[in-house]
Amino acid sequence: MAVLEHLTSQEAIDLENKYGAQNYHPLPVVLSKGEGVYVWDVEGRKYYDFLSAYSAVNQGHCHPKIIGALKNQADQLTLTSRAFYNDMLGKFEEFATQFFGFDKLLPMNTGAEAVETAIKLARKWGYEKKGIPANQAKIVVCQNNFHGRTISIISASNDPIATENFGPFTPGIISIRYNDINALQEVLKDENIAAFLVEPIQGEAGVYVPDENYIKEAFDLCKAKNVLFMADEVQTGIARTGRLLATCGNCSCPDKNCSGTPDVKPDVLILGKAISGGVLPVSAVLANNEIMEVIRPGNHGSTFGGNPLSCAVAMAALEVVKEERLAENASTLGQLFREEMEKLIEETDLVRLVRGKGLLNAIVINDSEDSSTAWDICMALKENGLLAKPTHGNIIRFAPPLVMNQEQLLECVAIISKTIKEFEK
Ligand SMILES: *Cc1c(COP(=O)(O)O)cnc(C)c1O
Repeated sequence: MAVLEHLTSQEAIDLENKYGAQNYHPLPVVLSKGEGVYVWDVEGRKYYDFLSAYSAVNQGHCHPKIIGALKNQADQLTLTSRAFYNDMLGKFEEFATQFFGFDKLLPMNTGAEAVETAIKLARKWGYEKKGIPANQAKIVVCQNNFHGRTISIISASNDPIATENFGPFTPGIISIRYNDINALQEVLKDENIAAFLVEPIQGEAGVYVPDENYIKEAFDLCKAKNVLFMADEVQTGIARTGRLLATCGNCSCPDKNCSGTPDVKPDVLILGKAISGGVLPVSAVLANNEIMEVIRPGNHGSTFGGNPLSCAVAMAALEVVKEERLAENASTLGQLFREEMEKLIEETDLVRLVRGKGLLNAIVINDSEDSSTAWDICMALKENGLLAKPTHGNIIRFAPPLVMNQEQLLECVAIISKTIKEFEK
């Protein structure tokens, strides 16, 4: 089959099924174009994107400023490796460290690589700065986390689908209950703990928002025990939850409604996904000098990490977040969305609750965890022009691009309400 031949949806799906590893179970829709909050399938049907590539496309699909930066840089230089300097990496590092308020940045590509990097950084810091005896360092994680797919990261997972028959696993990881400050206090009695790795909101698990003070209290406990507080903001970061970061500490947050929860400045900040606006795989680990300085030449790296194309794209993507006040928009529209979902909950028995922050939200379907109701609702939403995907259990995550406006959001609320009410009959 000629590569450029125009495919129908069914043909594209058949090709993936025949030639691709079956490591995903996608909704049966085949997309070929995106712009802002919209995507189009190969038959030309238009949809609202309510997943945003798991919050990678916060700036909207094919944002002209980001694509412009991509095209300009692509004509100049794309990859040098770190064997040589390039004229974009330093600029990006200066820009991003000032943007988020850290001394130093280590560039990688995917979120999983950034989490791996953070774990390596924490272990080395543990031995060289904290004085943990050789090979004894431990990392504390939370149950139901999602930090990516490498062997060491799934060693921190308690999801049987992600872990079964992938052992043996990486040692030195302790898992405690999320949102349980006593469990953290207990585990931190161990002197050999280098770091606590945590998502400020557990996205993949079903948008679990911890108690108001959990993150701040966890941070304070870590400080008292000389344990690094490492925030995985791959999904919650870059304005998604209504602030530049869900842990929003000493950063140049464009959102002025920044009171609410107490500020935390993680020792190690892990970013990915929307740092490139969904254009290229770009991830980063940020920390201050006294932590990052344990990494010396040869200790760690990546051929593509810090490439000039990614740097140009990421700077443009972060500028868009600030220029278009995406954190503020996410905060305002998120509040409206949850209010509208609360109204829907009053009118139907099918939705049990809505939760989330900013434009990272989920509804919990009132049916058993292993029923297909959430999937079936997502199929019906697709028919009505809105794309969303169930997460674990009977939960549907709603995370549109942050460039959405109020009129569009209300149209989406109408689609969701109509679909769910139709479904009830
Ligand atoms: C998506 C995600 C990752 C992994 O990112 P990849 O780019 O898929 O490797 C890590 N942590 C969190 C919180 C995520 O949502």
